[in-house]
Amino acid sequence: MHKDHPALHEATRLFVEQQLMGLEQDLQRAKKIKATITSLKGLYAELDPVAEKVAKEASSPCEAGCNHCCYILTLCSIPEGLVLAEAVLKRPDWKAVGRDLRQMAKVTCNPELTHGLYFRKQLACALLDKKTGQCSAYAERPSACRFHYVITEPELCSIGPEPKSVKVIDFRDLERRVWAHCAQLFPMTMTAPLPLVVLFCMPMLKKDKYFRQLLSGLPDPARWFYVVREQIPQLAKEAVGERGGEIVLNRSNLTEETADEDEDAG
Ligand code: SF4
Repeated sequence: MHKDHPALHEATRLFVEQQLMGLEQDLQRAKKIKATITSLKGLYAELDPVAEKVAKEASSPCEAGCNHCCYILTLCSIPEGLVLAEAVLKRPDWKAVGRDLRQMAKVTCNPELTHGLYFRKQLACALLDKKTGQCSAYAERPSACRFHYVITEPELCSIGPEPKSVKVIDFRDLERRVWAHCAQLFPMTMTAPLPLVVLFCMPMLKKDKYFRQLLSGLPDPARWFYVVREQIPQLAKEAVGERGGEIVLNRSNLTEETADEDEDAG
């Protein structure tokens, strides 16, 4: 075809238009994602001092380096996953972290999974720094970790042959606040295992062919949720949690959980 042929001009115009439209959509999407991350970090900054004050008043022994709770199955929402994914992608070793997340995500796709079964496997969260024993994404951790404080001996949080009784501070009000906020920020309001959600969020923030490999064979968090909902109603109920509603801070309620049993909260 001659280079000045009108049909060629038209095709070029359409192609350029499509590219620009795609670019515009990408930009809008990137802006929305950035705004979601900023907004949720703002809420974390608002709620952290509340939780820390209550934990201090209750003499919680939780401190950096104590990480028994990082072996619990942690569920999080997409906005919480985006905050974590952004932190992971800033690391030079993000591909290695991605591989660890993939390994953990595969474990969570077991339809027989329960919180107790997962805890008994004693698999450290992929974001736990094995050298320091500290969370490598502490500032970005999701509400399930952020508001998990015990008031019993740390030893009781560890795995053991017998079930142990652990008392946690009831911060469900704060968690609900985060969930309600997340529901406003992102249409998919349910939660799924942290490694799966973070992996799913990483390609939303960065284009890289490696994500195809990392996500290959894994369900997206919505699919995980629906499969689990049918097969494990209790786990799915915990995954949905309670959303929205009036938030009243309850500073004194304490709840008990048992570390080794299937009823463990994640
Ligand atoms: S995100 Fe951090 S605090 Fe939460 S389970 Fe993982 S390592 Fe522990």
